[in-house]
Amino acid sequence: MLDYHMHVENYYPFGRTPDTRPTGTAPMDTLRRFIDSAEARGVHEIAITEHVYHFVQAREIVANAWADEKCFYDMDTYVRILQEGQKAGLPIKVGIEMDYMDGKEDVIERIVNDYPWDFVLGSVHWIGPWGFDLSEHRAEWDRRSVDEAYRAYFRLLMQAVDMGCFSSMSHPDLIKVMGHFPLGDVSDLYEAFADRVAAQPGLCVEISSAGIRKPVGRLYPELPLLEACAARGIAITTASDAHAVEDIGRDFDQVKTLAASCGYTHAMSFTRRVATPVPLSR
Ligand SMILES: [Zn+2]
Ligand SMILES: [Zn+2]
Repeated sequence: MLDYHMHVENYYPFGRTPDTRPTGTAPMDTLRRFIDSAEARGVHEIAITEHVYHFVQAREIVANAWADEKCFYDMDTYVRILQEGQKAGLPIKVGIEMDYMDGKEDVIERIVNDYPWDFVLGSVHWIGPWGFDLSEHRAEWDRRSVDEAYRAYFRLLMQAVDMGCFSSMSHPDLIKVMGHFPLGDVSDLYEAFADRVAAQPGLCVEISSAGIRKPVGRLYPELPLLEACAARGIAITTASDAHAVEDIGRDFDQVKTLAASCGYTHAMSFTRRVATPVPLSR
């Protein structure tokens, strides 16, 4: 199995302040810890995909007060440490989780093209100023129409797809994260999304176990969305979206079951943004 979505933000040397860093560890020890946890769950290759808003070089992408106070990593150092892991023989891919923000296409493209990424996730976490998956923005759900939120989310997600610079679209129906489901039929959104992904050669969609650990308590995406992708021959990547080593590869039995129910036998591995299929049973 492959786990192509996880974060190092809580671990040395990526943690936010010196006092949260465990003493006596080296960056390579952190990476080895990630690999050990992965292997314990039968995962033989990981992509580390840190949030783009942590990096000073990308400050202008999310560019709001919430993200600004989390912006403190140097992207060159991050890439160098992951590449050192690769040189040491660790099965790690150099990745990034890119926030798609309407109107920031130029800087997004520059960051995607200026660094030697193996793998680039495309994500929508913001509808304008609303970070709809953040617990601190949860009250906004009471002021919004769920159906409208779904339509606004998928509109942005399809704009992200159209950029044509991502490897896989992460947690494609993240809009359900807090457990809200539309009253109306949204299958037209799923079909339209799948059409747009299919128009981008090689672009994958992600199956993620992270939703199981969120209020919604379900995998991303819903079965009809994945069926729409499978019907168009769109390939998948598999993900835990772990923010703690214990969550790497978590609930991958359910990920595999969902993938198999849509006829998937392989997930994609990426090197310098070029995909290779790997059997799901490995
Ligand atoms: Zn995300
Ligand atoms: Zn993530």
